[in-house]
Amino acid sequence: MSSVKVNQHEQEKKRIEQVLKMLAMHYPQVKTGLVYDNSFQLLVATVLSAQTTDQQVNKITARLFEALPTAYEMARRKPSDLEPYLKRVGLYRHKASYLVEASKIIVEQHGGRVPDQFAELIKLPGVGRKTANIIISSAYGQPALAVDTHVFRVSRRLGLADGKNVDAVEEQLKMVIPQDQWIASHHRLIAHGRTLCQARNPQCKNCFLNEWCFLILERGNDEWPLKN
Ligand code: SF4
Repeated sequence: MSSVKVNQHEQEKKRIEQVLKMLAMHYPQVKTGLVYDNSFQLLVATVLSAQTTDQQVNKITARLFEALPTAYEMARRKPSDLEPYLKRVGLYRHKASYLVEASKIIVEQHGGRVPDQFAELIKLPGVGRKTANIIISSAYGQPALAVDTHVFRVSRRLGLADGKNVDAVEEQLKMVIPQDQWIASHHRLIAHGRTLCQARNPQCKNCFLNEWCFLILERGNDEWPLKN
């Protein structure tokens, strides 16, 4: 590698370190906004959270978990039994069906316990990479980095990744973020996406990262707020 490229690489490494440091300073205590008591309830809440706010999911699960707190109870029901609880979430019929089917597999194949292996989790209906990563990190404390819509958007704007899909971004983030920061970084990028780096109206002028943000460095800050 030429010395110019080595220098650019070093500068980029420092920029990313600074971004991660600033995120940690501004969002020191971060965790999921979903309310749950165990890994099964986290799985249910995460499946329901697709295209729905955490607050809305929490309202729904408060009633749902009171009636059906474990995989055993849910596995015995028909999807139509769950639908009255889920009516306020998007795609509720699909989600009701996924949850009943997933509960049956958890009971029949895993003794009622949500598996802690990524490969087993993604076999469950309604569970993709994002949900599986959330379960193994938040419920079982294993290093994982779930990429949701906020993590995808914010990490690309910040220049932590440039992948065109969530799988590519996940792989890139795992290369630039130290493993012991994966779980916290997931929550910090979500917190930043909800507060300042929103999809339609990012608050670039007031953002504590605007000195280090890839998009600002690339486009300049003549126009605030940044237009997508
Ligand atoms: S400067 Fe703008 S685009 Fe960059 S992280 Fe902040 S809000 Fe997002």
